Amino acid sequence: MPFCVKDWSCLHTADNPTEIGFVRGLLEAEDIETRVRSMELWAAAVEIYFAEGARPSVWVRDADLDRARKVLAQADRRGSAPDWICSGCGERLEGQFTACWRCGRAGSADD
Ligand SMILES: [Zn+2]
Repeated sequence: MPFCVKDWSCLHTADNPTEIGFVRGLLEAEDIETRVRSMELWAAAVEIYFAEGARPSVWVRDADLDRARKVLAQADRRGSAPDWICSGCGERLEGQFTACWRCGRAGSADD
């Protein structure tokens, strides 16, 4: 579903798909509409792609940006990111970790 970039702001660039789901869940619980940008969806937005790299990002409407930032800030303080399973060794990791403490694999690895 394409949308107009100029009315939206990038709120958060994630390290892995789990994080994207977590952020969207937080925002949608507050009735904040979200869009997720990935390489595939945003191939046309070349300048944005190169500015932020290939990682997926969550976007919100400009009008919701301040509120969305507060929602994320509160979540960070609670440290309530969901657990995730390492794709390298199967270790269960707490949400605040972006890489596996056991084998060093980043949470975005999918092989
Ligand atoms: Zn691991």
